[in-house]
Amino acid sequence: MEDASPDRTADLSAEAGRLRDEGVAIVAGSVTDLAGVTRAKYVPVDRLGAFARSGMGVSPSWSVFCVDSGIAFTPTIGVAGDLRIRIDPNDLRVVDAGVAWAPGSLNDQHGRPAPLCTRTQLVLAEQAAADRGLDVRMGGELECTMLAADGGPASTEPWSPYGIRTSLDRSAFLVDLATSGERAGLRFEQLHTEYGHDQLEVSLAPDTPTATADAIILARIVLSRVAARHGLRISFSPVPFDGAAGNGAHLHLSLSDADGPLLSGGDGPHGLRAAGAQAIAGVLDTLPDLIGVYAGSAVSPLRLKPGNWAGATACWGLENREAAVRFIAATPGNPHGANVELKLIDPSANPYLAAAAFLGSALRGIDRHLDLPEEIPENPAHSDIQTRALPLAQRDALDALAASETAAELLTPAIVDTLVAVRRYETATFGDLPAAQICDALRLAWTC
Ligand code: GLU
Ligand code: MG
Repeated sequence: MEDASPDRTADLSAEAGRLRDEGVAIVAGSVTDLAGVTRAKYVPVDRLGAFARSGMGVSPSWSVFCVDSGIAFTPTIGVAGDLRIRIDPNDLRVVDAGVAWAPGSLNDQHGRPAPLCTRTQLVLAEQAAADRGLDVRMGGELECTMLAADGGPASTEPWSPYGIRTSLDRSAFLVDLATSGERAGLRFEQLHTEYGHDQLEVSLAPDTPTATADAIILARIVLSRVAARHGLRISFSPVPFDGAAGNGAHLHLSLSDADGPLLSGGDGPHGLRAAGAQAIAGVLDTLPDLIGVYAGSAVSPLRLKPGNWAGATACWGLENREAAVRFIAATPGNPHGANVELKLIDPSANPYLAAAAFLGSALRGIDRHLDLPEEIPENPAHSDIQTRALPLAQRDALDALAASETAAELLTPAIVDTLVAVRRYETATFGDLPAAQICDALRLAWTC
């Protein structure tokens, strides 16, 4: 049966014609699954209207696809049934020669959001903030590793972290990236070669959470496509090579109410207002429950080590890069205003779900008036202040997530159970392998 939502009547033939004039032949609509892998259906550009109105059919098993070709069937998700990917035609971007893309939402055949649609989950978290009178901004950082076309190391010469040489050696790629990103409507704030060998980082201007999660997927697509034009591939694995620097997928969050920002202008530490302090407390409070959402893949624990600036310690601190939550104050050097960065997140996480968990935890902290723990202003490894232990091993992170009433409350029991099933498949498949083999097996798992 077809749905009766108002946009059914929208005529998208003019939009399809405009895209055709731009040389677009096919349109992709993607969803990112619980393993963090982005999958897509394509239509000829003339079928744009159908993609937006009825959507394109996918099996419910899309929600239990795993990082490799495995499927983690659950008692409720099997081979029967059908879902629809629907795109929002307002979000169309040109991502490659002849190809336009839009983020998709998973719907049932009546046009209702599917229970396992992670994008819908983020829209609901955003709505929960709006219901509390809060305006939310999120920014995303994408760290990734350049690879040779065969998936091995892109270069063997010595690397210079943030080196002018390491960037200029790749200037044709970076210029193409900036131009293609702009054409796709991305707002890059920075792009640079990072600390790790062949590592690159792109950061995105803050936007609403759903727009930012969409932009993260779009940026991964653009990065991967531009790299291919320059004979490179891109890895979004948390650790592409055993022992190498990890790739983070940090998210920044700021909140404001009718009186202004919650993270500045108050009389708490660093100018926090009471609700801002409670929001940070909320994010810290749920870390043990949600680490399986933020960094839950079989590769993730290899990154979560002291000294990696991956935020593997459950604490917060001003500009503290070893804290899970880095506080960034409102200063003239920070025109976006005060915000908190959740460094724990890695690119194997579904960005919609990570953003929903991050925002939901902050709102929960405000609702419950949680107390902000003492700040750790230095490297937590050298601090006398005790922090809560985090379940860093994948098995432990998934056990904590599976048992968490808070996670089920924030993300729904259905999403938590299915995420745990998909990730436990990874533990069973990769968990007992040596680290180097896990890295090799999953190096390209999250490439777009
Ligand atoms: N590469 C680090 C990570 O895995 C982050 C480095 C930085 O702070 O930019 O999260
Ligand atoms: Mg970085």
